[in-house]
Amino acid sequence: MTRCDVAIIGAGPYGLSAAAHLRTVRGLDVHTFGEPMSFWERNMPIGMLLRSGWAATHIADPSQSLTLEAFRAASRKHFSSPVPLDRFVDYGLWYQRQAAPDLDQRKIMRVELDEKGFRLIPEKGATVFARRVVVAAGIGSFAWRPPEFTGLPSSLASHTSEHREFQRFAGKRVLVVGGGQSALESAALLHESGAEVEIVARARQIRWLGGLVSRTIHRGLGSEVSKLLYAPTDVGPAGISQIVARPDLVRQFPRPIQDWLRKRSIRPAGARWLVSRLQNVPMKLGRSIVSASSLGERVRVRLDDGGERTVDHVFLGTGYRVDVSKYDFFAPELAKSIGRFGGYPRLSEGFETSVPKLHILGAPAVWSFGPLMQFVVGTHYASRSLLRFMAGKAVGNQVRVSGPLVAELG
Ligand SMILES: Cc1cc2nc3c(=O)[nH]c(=O)nc-3n(C[C@H](O)[C@H](O)[C@H](O)COP(=O)(O)OP(=O)(O)OC[C@H]3O[C@@H](n4cnc5c(N)ncnc54)[C@H](O)[C@@H]3O)c2cc1C
Repeated sequence: MTRCDVAIIGAGPYGLSAAAHLRTVRGLDVHTFGEPMSFWERNMPIGMLLRSGWAATHIADPSQSLTLEAFRAASRKHFSSPVPLDRFVDYGLWYQRQAAPDLDQRKIMRVELDEKGFRLIPEKGATVFARRVVVAAGIGSFAWRPPEFTGLPSSLASHTSEHREFQRFAGKRVLVVGGGQSALESAALLHESGAEVEIVARARQIRWLGGLVSRTIHRGLGSEVSKLLYAPTDVGPAGISQIVARPDLVRQFPRPIQDWLRKRSIRPAGARWLVSRLQNVPMKLGRSIVSASSLGERVRVRLDDGGERTVDHVFLGTGYRVDVSKYDFFAPELAKSIGRFGGYPRLSEGFETSVPKLHILGAPAVWSFGPLMQFVVGTHYASRSLLRFMAGKAVGNQVRVSGPLVAELG
């Protein structure tokens, strides 16, 4: 049996960043598992552009040297903002080679409680015993499929995360459900691949990022005012952006205010560069789907206004709903013991769950640490918090790690 002090499950931005930070704790034996950047490489569409701005897209590392600029210089690949998906994946793989060269790419099939910690069963090889576990397994397990589509095979109705490329939909009629970035970007890419696309969304109008209000603030009021209202973390609208950039502050607010900040910051919205790409794509807004059934090789969908569509395929751009019990590697008793609120784990300092020595990073941490945790930029706060917590445990006292997040990104 292999033993380690800390096992990290997941090698996306959060797992890699945690690995890079924890490596700096002398004497701490850290073992990181997972295929690097696999969610970005397999579950996002070729041709996608990142919605987050340049300053909010670096994966945090302790020396602040593994930035996008450093990667651009080292790789001699030319790109700027918006960052293309393939460049971001290359950046993540480059980051991994520098920060976590000893990554173990095996998948963890099961995590069980053990007397002194946790037993991890990898897909092959010996069981690993870890004193602590950090889960950074992303949102792939939480793809939301509305109940109206339950009976349909994925050949007829599929989640946007199931697609990388769209050529096979050329000449087909496709309905895209949803009004957020994934739905809108998939619709644009489908349209550009020659599909006949229509969007149906519950929202009465699409919320476009970088609209009139934000452009007026950015250009009209000058960069100083703009900086006061928008933090470089790039999450949330004017004013709120500055609050949610400070997770320690967010945690001080009463729960209803925290919930309001979260909802205001991560509402479905589309990047401005999609507007022109979607101008020839019809949109049925303010409508929802009430039923869907197969009709031979096609799907018939009924809308709540009595309208009907028969299409070759339905794309569900319906997002993700966090529920940590859906991480299939948790043994059932372990999953049950994690204190939760509506699927989100209740986390304390160092992102620790109610199960001692079990930590969870990334989108599941949104309920406890605010909306930043849903994005790459949250690695700056999460990894430092984790490092401070673990370094404190390792040397028996609290260790000061670094200054405020916003100042650092700016
Ligand atoms: C379409 C789309 C566009 C997005 N665009 C942006 C954007 O522009 N900017 C932004 O900041 N965020 C964006 N996001 C959010 C993005 O998903 C998160 O910011 C980011 O992926 C969080 O990183 P993570 O490490 O938590 O998760 P992930 O990147 O999903 O990494 C999780 C890793 O864990 C591994 N793993 C899972 N289970 C196991 C297991 N059992 N054993 C071993 N390994 C395991 C996976 O293989 C994966 O590599 C977008 C999301 C979507 C869906």
